[in-house]
Amino acid sequence: MKQPIAFVTNIEREEVDQWLELFSEVMPEEESVPFDQVTDLTAIEIAIVANPRPEDLLKLPNLKWIQSLWAGVEGILKEKSLDHIPLARMTDPNLAVTMAEAVLAWTLYLHRDMPKYAEQQQARIWKQQPFVRAEERSVGILGLGKLGLRSAETLLAAGFKVLGWSRSLKNIDGVETFAGDKGLNNILNQSDIVVNLLPHTPSTWNLLNEETFGQMKAGASLINFGRGATVEPNSLIAALDSGHLKHAVLDVFKKEPLPDDNALWVHPKVTILPHISAPTDPKTASQLVADNIKSYRSSGTIPTVVDRSLGY
Ligand code: NAP
Repeated sequence: MKQPIAFVTNIEREEVDQWLELFSEVMPEEESVPFDQVTDLTAIEIAIVANPRPEDLLKLPNLKWIQSLWAGVEGILKEKSLDHIPLARMTDPNLAVTMAEAVLAWTLYLHRDMPKYAEQQQARIWKQQPFVRAEERSVGILGLGKLGLRSAETLLAAGFKVLGWSRSLKNIDGVETFAGDKGLNNILNQSDIVVNLLPHTPSTWNLLNEETFGQMKAGASLINFGRGATVEPNSLIAALDSGHLKHAVLDVFKKEPLPDDNALWVHPKVTILPHISAPTDPKTASQLVADNIKSYRSSGTIPTVVDRSLGY
């Protein structure tokens, strides 16, 4: 007899019910049970998680793998006692399409000077800013994984000059690629718009700081759609205040929701988004989870998992 699957999460009850309904549609042969309703904790081999409390997962002694509904899994990786359990994160191809759309949208926002025209409107200033063609605008993407690669392709198709940086050097048609510390310096000082799509790991923590903002081109802008942990906020504010950086579009923060008293809320050169650049699509994500579970049930194969030594 199949053991039930535990749904371990601290999202709102209503959202839990919506996910459970989807799970029963896409995998009617499985029984998915919210963690607080699991009767026999020892029977659980698979946990589907969305922002779980790690201590709940630790109560499942026979857990074989954890499937995250989100792409970022740094919260689970922090709990070292879970290190022996394979962890699969959300790698829905639709997520990459959604992220690439957001990257293009906010790149165009900066490229076509929308923050400047909004500011001019407030002051009733009728003034044309110099026009720059897309091919004259360099967009540097930090992180060339699933989301970064698709974003690079989308920006290329829109006519931008695209550069990319990753841990291991990539070969992508039409994209100038970089790796390592020197590569970071190179991409930062050549990009008019820097897009962060790195995961939150010990080596990306505060990677964008006083020194690296200083390496960015004067007048460049930042889009942070990866994780808040990569940006040191005081250094960002200093770089914007000094005029070295023009604008920052921020979707992710060290603390979310962004606290009311955070200076970024009211900074004239900052656009705040409430972590919306690439939401998980429940329909396609639940199907991906169902496919992974089906494959596990038939062959015992655990889907591609996070490399804990790298933290992503
Ligand atoms: P991924 O496929 O794992 O790719 C990560 C990329 O970052 C890879 O290219 C990797 O290099 C590079 N990288 C990691 N550590 C690095 C380092 N220390 N130095 C240089 N490059 C490094 O991840 P993904 O699916 O593209 O997702 C990226 C992140 O986006 C997620 O971790 C999540 O935090 C964030 N995200 C945000 C939202 C949102 O709504 N804002 C939604 C989904 C995801 P290699 O290629 O060499 O391994």
